[in-house]
Amino acid sequence: MQKKGKSVFPGGVHPTDGSDKALSMDAAIQQYEPSTVTILSEQSFGGKCRLLVQPGDTVEEGQLIGEPEAFMAAPLHASVSGTVLDVREVVNQGRKLLACVIQREKECAESSASYRTAAADIREISREEILAGIRDGGLTGMGGAGFPAHKKYETDKDIDTLLINGAECEPYLTCDYRLMLEEGYALVNGARLLLKASGAERACICLEDNKPQAAENLSRILEEARNQGIMESGEQVEVKIFPTKYPEGGERQLIQAVTGREVPMGGLPADVGVIVSNVGTAKAAADMILGHMPLTRRIVTVTGWVKNPGNYRVPIGTSAKELVELAGGVTVPQNRVIAGGPMTGPCVASDWNGEEELFYITKNTSGILVLPDSAWEEQPCIRCGGCENACPAGLVPWQIDFAFQQEDYELCEKLYASECIACGCCSYICPAKRELTVRTRMARDAVKQRMRERAVKKA
Ligand code: SF4
Ligand code: SF4
Repeated sequence: MQKKGKSVFPGGVHPTDGSDKALSMDAAIQQYEPSTVTILSEQSFGGKCRLLVQPGDTVEEGQLIGEPEAFMAAPLHASVSGTVLDVREVVNQGRKLLACVIQREKECAESSASYRTAAADIREISREEILAGIRDGGLTGMGGAGFPAHKKYETDKDIDTLLINGAECEPYLTCDYRLMLEEGYALVNGARLLLKASGAERACICLEDNKPQAAENLSRILEEARNQGIMESGEQVEVKIFPTKYPEGGERQLIQAVTGREVPMGGLPADVGVIVSNVGTAKAAADMILGHMPLTRRIVTVTGWVKNPGNYRVPIGTSAKELVELAGGVTVPQNRVIAGGPMTGPCVASDWNGEEELFYITKNTSGILVLPDSAWEEQPCIRCGGCENACPAGLVPWQIDFAFQQEDYELCEKLYASECIACGCCSYICPAKRELTVRTRMARDAVKQRMRERAVKKA
């Protein structure tokens, strides 16, 4: 059953009329098999792995090739079967990282297992088996910062609610939408597995009301599972729909909308009894536990000012440049290329001519977006208060901006810059085109660093 929720978080914006998503919404997922992949040893910021392979080694898809060295890291697996050509440093989005280059020598292993086309009976699978499976399979959040999933699920906090996030509120991106339409069974089975792993009483699959077909598909699959009599006693999974408003899919905003609870400043969702995982993460959990395949692939939306916007399922390590070529190439010479969506994704190239490499797909790359370059100059703040009204974290961005530019980090801290979620609403709304998000994010990082240093001194 689909339940209609209310958007209750403060602020937020309505950045588009839907024409941005329409570019790729109807583009069915296409499989793409590159001839080589470049798998970064760090799949999310601070998530470094030690590579276990050397040039000349033969690897099979799903084979372990990297062991976590950092708290934010999850195991890394070969995303194709073939030969390791090189282990070398590459520059990815301005950072030098060690990477493993593999030449593909076989077609990808496409699973036809029944969990992809029917509700699965998971009653014999224990919570411990699921936790071990997602840890060893290298599961990370696929919609946000790429946090290792098992660390969320191994919490000692009491969890009563699991939220499976299908809001996909970022403009232009449609990879989660296509997943919900085309991989609904695997997603629902994965959500049920994650519900068991969380120990929660209920799971809500949360969508915005601009995706009615996806909501219908998932509700129908859940109904089928109930009618088959294979749900565990007390297993409660429902679809919840919310008004379309950015950033509905932000963890804190979604928690507030579903449960009415506010995650405390500096706290985590588990502090209020909630775990949030993306729909792609749920689907990947099913691949690991029911399909016995670690996280080696993901869906990426390639859209904006490209000839044929689309959604592609690709091995981790695929070149972003190749994917833009596959989508027909860019259609404006004066452009900006963004890794992810326009509100939160970093700009990786300007006036890109299609020749240089852009970046390599990681476990949490949701899209490649090409936008026309819009040259503007920042103007002085006119104190309109727009950014303050739009900020979903309840901050006063213009004040943080001034404090940061004065290098007054103490004031930034007093203004709670540490709570910025880098959503982009303030920059979007600002009539003076001030680069608020960039600076509030930098202020946040500076304040957090000061807090860490203070904690170390105290210890
Ligand atoms: S980027 Fe930060 S300061 Fe700006 S609206 Fe979002 S949370 Fe608020
Ligand atoms: S929206 Fe822009 S102009 Fe208005 S108060 Fe904020 S920074 Fe100033």
